[in-house]
Amino acid sequence: MAGLAKTYYDAKLLPDAIVFRQFVQGFNKEHALCHFTDAGDDKEAADNKVKAEMALFYDNVHCKHIMLAASGDNSYAGFLRQYTLTDQVSSRVVLIESIPFANQLDVLAIKFEKTHLQGLFRDHKIEKKALLFHEERPGPLGDTPPATYASTVKQPNGWQEKQAPVLPKSPLIDGGQVEAGRRIYQNNKGQRVDQPIKADKATTYRLKPLKLCNRHFLTKCYHNPCGHNHEGKLTSVEIDALRFIARLSPCQTLYCEDPDCVSGHRCMQGANCDKGSRCWFGDEMHRVDTKITGFITV
Ligand SMILES: [Zn+2]
Ligand SMILES: [Zn+2]
Ligand SMILES: [Zn+2]
Repeated sequence: MAGLAKTYYDAKLLPDAIVFRQFVQGFNKEHALCHFTDAGDDKEAADNKVKAEMALFYDNVHCKHIMLAASGDNSYAGFLRQYTLTDQVSSRVVLIESIPFANQLDVLAIKFEKTHLQGLFRDHKIEKKALLFHEERPGPLGDTPPATYASTVKQPNGWQEKQAPVLPKSPLIDGGQVEAGRRIYQNNKGQRVDQPIKADKATTYRLKPLKLCNRHFLTKCYHNPCGHNHEGKLTSVEIDALRFIARLSPCQTLYCEDPDCVSGHRCMQGANCDKGSRCWFGDEMHRVDTKITGFITV
């Protein structure tokens, strides 16, 4: 568990490793039968536990459903194969596809029910490049950057002046991180920094009640069916307004690395926000240092 917490912390998905421990405690407390197991740090410790548990419950007729989330891990292929030896699709075992199925699992996956639990699991692996970014302060000894450095931009002194011209200036480019090479701008804490947006007030008021799908119009919507409106086309003024509207809903994390995320990563009122605890944005999202010191390329 400590290793996982460190990975999350190094990848800047957590502000502090202690948050992970708090999460696990909260998860275990939520229901007497909720367990988050610390498998220890032996090689394949977690895999061994999952496999033993699954084998035990699969043979138990009272067990109605097993959901397995290991889609990116080829090492489960050999183990799962034993459950695919009939012509039927196994309905008791459901494979959760979070990151895309690893190639050997992909072949087996047709023999199982499958589901996506969007928003619950990551849909891509934690990239090493994110880890490197964390430690890339200019070293006093002028150490050589690792080979994968190219994918991540560091922030030597003077980065701001040198790179400032490529920073998104208009709201149109800002939300379009996709066009801008899928960059996510960050401050020196590795927090995502939303660039200011200028939106036409009247257009914003007009669009707000239309419940347009922000992701569909601004980046990419993965919901099918989607509960929001995908109809029609928007003008660039309307796109700006929608981008502004989308930013009014807080993202789940200040360390967001989703290039398609259109939510807000800070309260636009910042320290001047007078909504107090009624504001949807948490404390931390009112205190974001907006000085950009680097970006990651996703
Ligand atoms: Zn949608
Ligand atoms: Zn986000
Ligand atoms: Zn606020």
